[in-house]
Amino acid sequence: MPWISKAMCTGCGVCVENCPAGSIQIADDEKAEIDMEECIRCGTCHDICPSEAVRHDSEKLSAAFRCYTNS
Ligand code: SF4
Ligand code: SF4
Repeated sequence: MPWISKAMCTGCGVCVENCPAGSIQIADDEKAEIDMEECIRCGTCHDICPSEAVRHDSEKLSAAFRCYTNS
């Protein structure tokens, strides 16, 4: 499942324009947000983001795993 790193997102809007489901919006903080109810998990936003701000759940899991194994 995709998620957007607010720290990396520049609010350029490229993902908004290219999401086939229309499930991404620029929020009040000028960062992109994905509506998970509408997202069809196509991966386009991940492939197209020029700032590599669209990440995947697997990264969160591996980060948590690293945290766990380093403790
Ligand atoms: S394409 Fe990337 S940097 Fe641009 S608004 Fe979307 S997530 Fe943010
Ligand atoms: S994975 Fe596809 S449908 Fe979901 S937010 Fe990204 S571009 Fe839109």
